[in-house]
Amino acid sequence: MNEFKSAKIREVISAIRHYDRFMIATHVHPDGDAMGALVAMQLILRRLGKSVVAYTQDPYPQEYGFLANVREIRNKPPGPADHEAAILVDCGDLERVGEKLLDSVKGAGFLINIDHHLVNKPFGNVNWIETSASSACEMLFDLCMSLSLPPDKALATALYTGILTDTGSFRFSNTNARVFEIISTLTGFGADPARIAGEVYDSATPEKLKLLALVLGTMEFHASSRIVTAELSRSMLSDSSSNYVESEGFINHLRSIKSAEVAILFREVGDGLIHISMRSRGDINVARLAQLHGGGGHKQAAACRISGELHPVRSMFIAETISYLNGSRRPENG
Ligand code: 5GP
Ligand code: MN
Repeated sequence: MNEFKSAKIREVISAIRHYDRFMIATHVHPDGDAMGALVAMQLILRRLGKSVVAYTQDPYPQEYGFLANVREIRNKPPGPADHEAAILVDCGDLERVGEKLLDSVKGAGFLINIDHHLVNKPFGNVNWIETSASSACEMLFDLCMSLSLPPDKALATALYTGILTDTGSFRFSNTNARVFEIISTLTGFGADPARIAGEVYDSATPEKLKLLALVLGTMEFHASSRIVTAELSRSMLSDSSSNYVESEGFINHLRSIKSAEVAILFREVGDGLIHISMRSRGDINVARLAQLHGGGGHKQAAACRISGELHPVRSMFIAETISYLNGSRRPENG
């Protein structure tokens, strides 16, 4: 472990040891890494004898319902006296926690930020940011090891889940030898690969597949099929009797098209707000594109939100992506 990283972990550990009552939270619309890291952080703090309550602003996708203690996760923000310190996991910026939880996090006497995003703005009193980590769960594995806390089955399962999902099942470029070493160790500690993959990838509802069919029906190709886009409107949710949370992961179907250097999914989050998810391959840095609109993420997986109606936002953003793609051949954008 490099000196910078061990110093950061020491800072995190001494802050954790100093406080007794924690709120922990992760980003809006939590994915597998967010959920794995939240559950893992809760288990770690409890093993250390701390009092901890976990929060997410939005409901979690049902496929993560098998993780330990997820039913204890609260959506309603805590009062200022309920905790001494807050820990945010997998949040590239403070606002990612969601407006409903923001004041509670800001009101905490001490804030620990544990994250692996490219554009993380250090917002905590302690900021442990590891952009080379595959996932927030990989970082929490390192935290466990530094605490000499060998994971039990529940903790190993949570950490495994986050690494599995943030590496796209060990397919993305953040998959490396260290990821497999950690995965091997977690399997030794009781994480069950077939069971976890079954829960995460093979537990869809019929409604989810109906929604996916509607979304894929809107697929369009641009720039000689280098760009593929699709959309999810609010009416598709009622037409399929599904909900927004079920669309987590749909972007991966667009990403699977060989010619697609950039895959974009436009989702109507609420009236007049569009969530734009992007995935790229090769040298295309979609985090930069997301940053132009106040979003962020990773080089090959990023997102932002734009106010407006679905179709005008989609057309505008496609035009912007086409010019970005043309410009991205320049070395300074590489
Ligand atoms: P997704 O497309 O799955 O919503 O997000 C892709 C990636 O971008 C994830 O790593 C996510 O954490 C990050 N991301 C999504 N929305 C935002 C945003 O509004 N701001 C920032 N900074 N990152 C985001
Ligand atoms: Mn993550």
